[in-house]
Amino acid sequence: MKPTIRRIQHKVGVAADGIVGPRTLSAISRALGIADTPTTPLWPTQAEVRRGTSRFGRPGNEEMLTAITPPYPLLYEGRPVSSIRVHCAIATHVQQALREVQAHYGSEAIHRLGLDLYGGCYNYRPTSAGGALSMHAWGIALDFSPDANAYSYKAPRATLSIPECEAWWQIWESHGAVSLGRERDYDWMHLQFARLS
Ligand SMILES: [Zn+2]
Repeated sequence: MKPTIRRIQHKVGVAADGIVGPRTLSAISRALGIADTPTTPLWPTQAEVRRGTSRFGRPGNEEMLTAITPPYPLLYEGRPVSSIRVHCAIATHVQQALREVQAHYGSEAIHRLGLDLYGGCYNYRPTSAGGALSMHAWGIALDFSPDANAYSYKAPRATLSIPECEAWWQIWESHGAVSLGRERDYDWMHLQFARLS
């Protein structure tokens, strides 16, 4: 199976890693001329968000938050959560990304990889490094599998850095979200709807 996938990936011009994620699927659709290529949204940079004048508004404004029902069961500190609160501007993307995760991995792998371990979104606080406000203060950052992906853990110790999580990240990235783990190799639990620069 895998050599075939790799050959196809090579032909359509994406990394031949044998993993059929969103990039591979959209490249195949384009090659077949059936693409309705969804464009990746371009979110503001962290600096723009921190200025308080971006589409995300000012920090700590709970009126901008909306509750969404996750498409598969999430656990927060060991307890099931029926809804999560995120900034209204990212809500449909979070909902859709989680749907895609569910479709790609299924319940068994979601559980095994800790993709159902929710670590929170809105939180009015500085970054773990201290100083500037975290993107969590706008409700535009989400954490997953926090215990196994502590702030200082690097790949491959951070469980979300393993190859099987490639599609997880590709899905979030296709919605414009940024992984600090993928970009900087720390805080692998964290993804945010703001660019680093
Ligand atoms: Zn975080």
